[in-house]
Formats: sequence, C-alpha cells, structure tokens
Amino acid sequence: MQPAGENSAPDVQTSEPMGVGLLGGTFNPVHNGHLDIARQTRDALHLERIVFIPTGDPPHKHQEDLASARDRYEMVQLAIASDPSFTVSDIEVRRPGKSYSVDTIRLLLQQHGGSVPLYFLIGLDAFLELPTWRDPAIALTLCSFVVISRPGASFQALGTLPLIPRIPTQSLVDLDEGCSSRLDVPIGEQVLICLRLPPCEVSASDIRTRVKQGLPVANLLPPAVESYILQHHIYS
Ligand code: ATP
Repeated sequence: MQPAGENSAPDVQTSEPMGVGLLGGTFNPVHNGHLDIARQTRDALHLERIVFIPTGDPPHKHQEDLASARDRYEMVQLAIASDPSFTVSDIEVRRPGKSYSVDTIRLLLQQHGGSVPLYFLIGLDAFLELPTWRDPAIALTLCSFVVISRPGASFQALGTLPLIPRIPTQSLVDLDEGCSSRLDVPIGEQVLICLRLPPCEVSASDIRTRVKQGLPVANLLPPAVESYILQHHIYS
C-alpha cells in the first residue's frame, strides 16, 4: 500500500524488503543535481524508490527568493514524472510550523510500519550542519543516512564533526581523492554511508540568479520545470 501523502508508484513485490530513500530539500527549484544524486544513490544501494520531500513554508519569516511550497512541490512532481521509482511526499508541505528531519523520519517510519529500511539521503554540505539540527543524535538512530559528495565540501570535515563516530582520516582522504567511492560507518543499529558520486556543479541558487538575469537554464533542470518557472514568473 502506498503511504498517504505520496503520489502513486507501483509497489514492488519482493521476498526481502528493499530500502526506500528519502531526499528532503527546499527544491527551490528542483534541478539536475537532485535528480542525479537520487538516481545514482538508488542504483548504488539498490533502493526500491526515492521519495522527494520538499520543505514547507517557513511560518514567520519571509525568505527572499523562496518560491511557495505549492510551486516547489509542483516543480518536483514535473521533474520526477517520467521515473516510476521516484515519488514526492507532501508530508512537510502540509505540516504547519518548521520542518525538522527528525519529525519527518518518525512520521515516515510510522507510515511504513518499520517494514522497509529507510535511508535519509543528504548532500555533504547539508550534513555538516548536523549539530544545528533538532535532536540530531536521535535522528541518527532512527534510520540510516547516506551522505553524498558535493563539489565544494570535503569528506575530511566529517573527521571533526560531533555526534558521529570517529572515522579514520585516511578513509576520508580516500573518499575525497576518489580512491574509494563508499564508506560504511556503523551507528548503533543504523549505518552512515558516505557515498562519492560523480560531481555535479548545479546549484539552486545559481539557477535562481540566472533566471533573474534572463540567462538560459535549459541544461540545469528538466524542460518541464524550466517551462513552469517561466510561465509562473518564479524568481524573475
Ligand atoms: P543551493 O544550491 O541554493 O544551496 P540546494 O540545491 O543545495 O540549494 P536543497 O534543495 O535543499 O538545496 O538540496 C537538497 C539536497 O540536495 C541537499 O542535501 C543538498 O546538499 C543536495 N544537493 C543539492 N545539489 C547537489 C549537487 N549538485 N550535488 C550533490 N548534492 C546536492
């Protein structure tokens, strides 16, 4: 059964439960970098599907350049339409107040009844903010995390990150230098998977700037998302 709040995708019947990846983000807008990491992580970890989870609107503060939750959700729907292994959840868009990953993971664990292993996908730049999250130590015990390389961020920074087990420096150097592409670090019953993927330089902030300046963005995001941005005058 498809959990409530996700768009439809075929259920996969297997004897062993396959994992489901959760990719949270502002998706302001969703772009080829997000789609690349979703596809490549799905394939590397043999995940059944990836659930994109756009954040809701911040309740009290107006963030410059932040498209509405509805527009960001719509853009994700357009971006993933051709891939049946991708779904989008409105769990954070519907929830009032600030979206905390720990709350989202708890809710999704309830929806999935604990029957499917969940993997929280996150870019290395965002994971390095771990100490500023709500209940970060608890979040790490709820499901496995997949920390994905991103240009400009170094795995070696994990060596001094509080709340995670100490990782040998050489293992982190090997990831940064491409001598290894995956490192699994057990955290209790879960695992922190560091994944080095081919670099993709695309960033949402760059796309917003280019739209504002009337520059082309065609090779940075799916055509349907570009059309949506232009039709609805988002970021311009
Ligand atoms: P900005 O580029 O403005 O910083 P963003 O794309 O990083 O925006 P989000 O939409 O919140 O912001 O990103 C969702 C997740 O995708 C984050 O975990 C982020 O680290 C990761 N991510 C985004 N772009 C890339 C990329 N090019 N390579 C690897 N990871 C990425």
